[in-house]
Amino acid sequence: MTTITRFAPSPTGRLHVGNIRTALHNWMLARKAGGRFLLRIDDTDAERSREEYVEAIRDDLDWLGLSPDGEERQSERLEKYEAAFEALKAAGRVYPAYETAQELELKRKIQLGRGLPPIYDRGSLKLSEEERAAKEAEGISPHWRFKLDHDEPIRWEDGVRGPQKFDPAQLSDPVIRRADGSWLYMLPSAVDDLDMGVTDVLRGEDHVSNTAVQIQMFTALIAARNAAQQIPRFAHEALLVGKEGKLSKRLGSLGCDAFRERDIEPEAIIALLARLGTSQPVEPISDRGQLVESFDLSTFGRAPAKFDDTELDRLNAAIVHSLPFDAVAGRLPKGMDEAGWHAIRPNLTHVCEAGEWWRLVTGPIAERDFSAEDRGYLSAAAGALEWSDDPWHALTAKLKASTGRKGKPLFLPLRQALTGMDHGPDMGELLPLIGEERARARLEAAARE
Ligand code: GLU
Repeated sequence: MTTITRFAPSPTGRLHVGNIRTALHNWMLARKAGGRFLLRIDDTDAERSREEYVEAIRDDLDWLGLSPDGEERQSERLEKYEAAFEALKAAGRVYPAYETAQELELKRKIQLGRGLPPIYDRGSLKLSEEERAAKEAEGISPHWRFKLDHDEPIRWEDGVRGPQKFDPAQLSDPVIRRADGSWLYMLPSAVDDLDMGVTDVLRGEDHVSNTAVQIQMFTALIAARNAAQQIPRFAHEALLVGKEGKLSKRLGSLGCDAFRERDIEPEAIIALLARLGTSQPVEPISDRGQLVESFDLSTFGRAPAKFDDTELDRLNAAIVHSLPFDAVAGRLPKGMDEAGWHAIRPNLTHVCEAGEWWRLVTGPIAERDFSAEDRGYLSAAAGALEWSDDPWHALTAKLKASTGRKGKPLFLPLRQALTGMDHGPDMGELLPLIGEERARARLEAAARE
């Protein structure tokens, strides 16, 4: 059976790093199995869903290189949910409920006050036909709950958490539909997972108890439809937290725009999120194939995965150092060619810093103060400069022989005079880019100052 995974964001905001991680893991799971990765837009909440967010989600996935193999929208499938609802109703698995939000809140408070878990007491299920008719006559339109089967524990083998067991009597019958007819997340998601042939549901551990409920929905739907459909496998990954170990507000708004603004390569984000929270080392791997190959749910830990910006920057630097010219040409300063990129690349944490370093080639450079002795040395250097394929090594060899200088006194004044800086790109690579004329002028200027 082809593996089918899905990423199911609600378009009520931009994707954040936690969503990106879920999308990535679903993408990798599908890729590794040679299967399909679906984007499902969970837009049943017409009030809060926005088309601009749908587009932003697509753009972000595209930028990250996680383009889906297919896209579905819940708002286009409302009649499917209606049919499933009717089938479940006919099977006695959904029932109308009439409590107001205030009544429910009061019930909860009383239960908590008595030290009881706040489980819905099935008050509406116990209403007689007449009592129900009376409620409707009062003009109260019901919302709808799915009736959990209390007979047996709910079990599944979780891809990350191992064997799971829930007592359904400890769960509230979930509300699946509001009084205005609109859908809550639970039922549409189960209908879609069945209809789209989703084989693996991989999502955050905040969904564990939803899974317990949805497993009963899957079972009820399959029975009601008398269909040869299958309940997906489930895996719930530990949540992503800030490096201080807490769920962080900042992470909840950290998304692709912020990464782009910081000039983080998508490959750095992917390399980090692919391995974070697993027992595999986080490494600057820009080969997706390698990451996909090593993807393995059994390496996922139960402890929260800690997201650290410093680690992201470190990975970004390592990935930038290996980026080929073609991959960055459009983002480099004017005139910077392949040799320029290769000379400058090792000094970068982010590609956008290339311009600062390229100024060492094009000038102007910072003026430095030299001692009289160094000025003499630099004047000799200007005289000794000879152009060849490797002018730097020719120059330093000559100066070493003629002045007896070595190490820092040999190299540093030359670097300072030629670039205005104490450190930077390899001079052997940089000097040919600076060129003979500019190099001589800089040495002469430094000798004069
Ligand atoms: N729309 C749901 C969410 O964003 C999807 C959860 C799921 O993957 O089933 O939480």
